[in-house]
Amino acid sequence: MKTLSILNVPVHDVTYNETLDLFGDYIASGNYHQICTVNPEFVMAANQQPEFMHVLQNASLCLPDGQGLLWGAKLRGHVLRERVAGSTMMYKLAERAAQENWRVFLLGAADGVAGQTASILEARYPGFNVVGTWSGSPSEEDAPGIVQLIKQSRVQVLLVAYGAPKQDLWIYKYRNEMKVPVMMGVGGSFDFVTGIATRAPEWVQNLGLEWLHRLIKEPWRWRRMLALPKFALRVMLSKDSVRSDA
Ligand code: UDP
Repeated sequence: MKTLSILNVPVHDVTYNETLDLFGDYIASGNYHQICTVNPEFVMAANQQPEFMHVLQNASLCLPDGQGLLWGAKLRGHVLRERVAGSTMMYKLAERAAQENWRVFLLGAADGVAGQTASILEARYPGFNVVGTWSGSPSEEDAPGIVQLIKQSRVQVLLVAYGAPKQDLWIYKYRNEMKVPVMMGVGGSFDFVTGIATRAPEWVQNLGLEWLHRLIKEPWRWRRMLALPKFALRVMLSKDSVRSDA
């Protein structure tokens, strides 16, 4: 698998289908794997938070979720073939999980949202099997109960919607106890499935402008989103900002 290192954060050059095939391999192997959905905000945050950098560098798979990563790679003469967005992955994963009978658990988001997400996806993909949902919180006090619930449910795919980097740090911290084959942070994806938040129209996504849509819809994100121009600048200014490990 080709891996790029973008400002020291690993990003794997995988497509949606390759990602789902890898999930199948992970489940067949029985070993646990952490998957992160990397975008430029992740990259800039990890460069400021060593614990987050450590998690990303130790994840089994870092998906190229963020048009800025494809742009940055290209600018430096590398290729990421496809943007693999966590929120689109929710649907593709539900479809594959329905075919393969994977046992899925949805953790996080506001009260009731994970349950609603499960109902919507189960109706859309007959055979999709959500074995549990829980809103919970990323706090330490809640963790033992949540971990217990996940273990009892013999989960094969765990999707955690606590937002980044909380969800990724949480998965990393409890991965040895949970031992779920596929554990992925999915940010606000449950909010998108249920319509609490709306994604940009496909043509806006195709133009690579989903970030702009998000800024207009959720202007309070402006401070966090300053990471985008900072990312662009760092990639433009430093020749070795993107390296290929393969
Ligand atoms: N969330 C949560 N517990 C928390 C903080 C956040 O369940 O302590 C949920 C929140 O309800 C939302 C998601 O995490 O569903 C974060 O969404 P956001 O769009 O901020 O995440 P991003 O994709 O930007 O990381």
